[in-house]
Amino acid sequence: NKQVFLKNYVTGFPKESDMEIVQGSITLKVPEGSSDVVLLKNLYLSCDPFMRILMTEDTPMQVGLLYSPGSPLLGFGVSKVIESGHENYKKGDLVWGVTKWEEYSLVPSAQIHFKIEHTDVPLSYYTGILGMPGMTAYGGFFELGCPKKGDRVFVSAASGAVGQLVGQFAKLTECYVVGSAGTQEKVNILKDKLGFDEAFNYKEEPDLDAALKRYFPEGIDIYFENVGGKTLDAVLLNMRYNGRIPVCGMISQYNLTQKEGVTNLPHLFYKEIRMEGFIVFKFYHLYPKFLEFVLPHIREGKIAYVEDIVEGIESGPSALIGLFSGQNFGKKIVALARE
Ligand code: NDP
Repeated sequence: NKQVFLKNYVTGFPKESDMEIVQGSITLKVPEGSSDVVLLKNLYLSCDPFMRILMTEDTPMQVGLLYSPGSPLLGFGVSKVIESGHENYKKGDLVWGVTKWEEYSLVPSAQIHFKIEHTDVPLSYYTGILGMPGMTAYGGFFELGCPKKGDRVFVSAASGAVGQLVGQFAKLTECYVVGSAGTQEKVNILKDKLGFDEAFNYKEEPDLDAALKRYFPEGIDIYFENVGGKTLDAVLLNMRYNGRIPVCGMISQYNLTQKEGVTNLPHLFYKEIRMEGFIVFKFYHLYPKFLEFVLPHIREGKIAYVEDIVEGIESGPSALIGLFSGQNFGKKIVALARE
């Protein structure tokens, strides 16, 4: 049972050497009398930026998950039930939720978030568009962004797991949508494949305020916040009256020991803007409604989803740290097995 262990708590940018591949052993049986434990074969592991926050000692992140050196990482995954002590699951069920970064896991049933009922779409989608990032985009954009037709929407980290969906949900709502991303190739995909009205490479823009003024001469109604820092500061200057900022994440800050200051916060009250942070779990009750909305769009080809899959658990550490230099193109996934 190969596993990815956290070697040390991380300060600064994570490195592959902060993790190690360990050959563990596991008895492929649910221990006698364990009515709440499920044995999983992990098929796809999801690389998510929040995992870096859990690598910090005394993590400020309140999601009920903790990392400790000498233990496997925890993350989202798609898994197959090998054996179950819990009555809700049986051998052969496909599930998604939190699992350990290893080939086989014994998990308490609470870590399984949903059973997978629809298998006519790629299973890997349950790490992304049909899983946690999909719910993040859906809840953050519709529940907190409160979009209306014609709203002007800006999405940062727009080619990533969450951002590419927010942009497409905005287009389905008949909004005007602009995304930022870190390479010209990503910018092209946003415009040509994912239907964004405009996109720009934030690394090539010396003056983000000027760039936003170019794309939003009348200002921004919704800013879907994925990156924080300088981008947020420039956005605040360009928000419209009564604008909304769902704060999904601030990836530009996770590796900084000294976080960047944001100077334009007074614009929140000048323009009566609502800025609200969230963790995806608060939207989980919407999952059935979300599937009803998103599955037909996938099946009819009205939503595209870009994935970036690497093979084998040994690829896990480099795949994960690549998120912080934009090496992923779309949803980053580590495939361990197909069935
Ligand atoms: P992505 O698939 O978007 O991968 C991360 C991307 O962030 C990279 O590809 C890179 O793209 C960009 N990035 C990395 N460093 C920086 C930086 N310093 N400045 C600007 N961009 C940077 O990840 P996700 O879609 O999974 O996550 C996006 C955001 O959503 C993150 O902040 C994450 O923490 C958050 N999140 C929050 C959840 C919640 O419950 N609140 C749940 C899931 C995600 P590029 O090439 O464009 O720079």
